[in-house]
Amino acid sequence: MPSIRFAEVRALVSLAKFLGLVGFNARKASHWQMRGPCPIHHPASPRSRSFSVNLKRNVYHCFTCGVSGNQLASISTALYSTNKTTP
Ligand SMILES: [Zn+2]
Repeated sequence: MPSIRFAEVRALVSLAKFLGLVGFNARKASHWQMRGPCPIHHPASPRSRSFSVNLKRNVYHCFTCGVSGNQLASISTALYSTNKTTP
């Protein structure tokens, strides 16, 4: 697997675009906010809207599992650690 230079990715891609790339299926809640099922704790219902992304500040927060942050590295680590099928 090629290594990802997170600093470069972060400079080029918005948090919202990155979340889309990793499969975050969000709906726009307003001009600056997206809500959808959390890509970290994988809620049972695909209609969940517990995961919130603030497009103004480029930060995310889940109201169910409490994950939050703005570092691509941290969310990527969480995604890869929960997705064991990815080599
Ligand atoms: Zn969550």
